[in-house]
Amino acid sequence: MNPEVLENLVTANHILANEGVVDAYGHVSIRHPDREDRFLLSCSRSPELVQEQDIMEFELDGTDVNPGDRKPYLERFIHGAIYEKRPEIQSVVHNHAYEVLPFGVTDTPIRPVFHSAGRIGQKIPVWDIRDHFGDTNLLVANHEQGLSLAETLGDNFAVLMRGHGCTVAGITLEEAVLSSIYLMVNARIQMQSMQLGDVKYLSVGEADLNSQYNQPPVATERAWEFLCKRVQGKIE
Ligand SMILES: [Zn+2]
Repeated sequence: MNPEVLENLVTANHILANEGVVDAYGHVSIRHPDREDRFLLSCSRSPELVQEQDIMEFELDGTDVNPGDRKPYLERFIHGAIYEKRPEIQSVVHNHAYEVLPFGVTDTPIRPVFHSAGRIGQKIPVWDIRDHFGDTNLLVANHEQGLSLAETLGDNFAVLMRGHGCTVAGITLEEAVLSSIYLMVNARIQMQSMQLGDVKYLSVGEADLNSQYNQPPVATERAWEFLCKRVQGKIE
C-alpha cells in the first residue's frame, strides 16, 4: 500500500478534530485501496491522537483482520455496512457534532442553505435506531444495525442518527471530510437563519451543481491544502 494512504487517513483524523467535527468520539475510515471488501480505520482512540500504527484493517462485517492488542471502535459496523451497500463510496465519517443533533430529534429537516453545503446533498434522511431495534444505548453495535443505517442513508451522502449524531459518506476521503465539516456548518447557519424568518434553501438543481459529483478537483484540493495547513503544528 502506498504510504501516503495511511498518512492521509491520519491527517483526516487530525483535521476533523481541529475543525471541531469530532471530539473524544467519532471516527473516519477509507475503503482499502487494494481490497474493496475491506476498510481501514483507527483503533479505539480519539481522532486527534491517531497515528499510523493505530490504523487497523477490517472486513465489511466489522471483523478485525489483524488486531494484535489493539481494541477496535465499537461503532466500526457503521463503516463496513456503508461500503457493502455503496460500491462507489471510498470514505465514511461518523461524528456527534452538537450543531447537527437538533435536526435529528425534531421534524425539521436539515437542508443545504449555502453553496459549499451543496455537497451534502439535497436530502438528508434521519435514522432512528428505536424504529428498528427498540430501546438500545443508541450506538451502532453490530453489522445488522450498520446495514439498517446504510439502508436509510440510501443513495444520499449523509444520514442523521436520532439522539446520537450523523454519518457522512464520500466518493473520496477529502470529500467525506469536507462534507462532514459543511454539514456541521450548514446546521449552524440553518439554525441561525430560522431564527430570522423563512429560509430560502438551495434548490434541487443548485444542490446538484454543488454536489460531490460535480466538485471540480481544483476546489477540493484547495480546501484540503488549507485544512492541512491549519492543522499542521497543532497536532503532532
Ligand atoms: Zn456514535
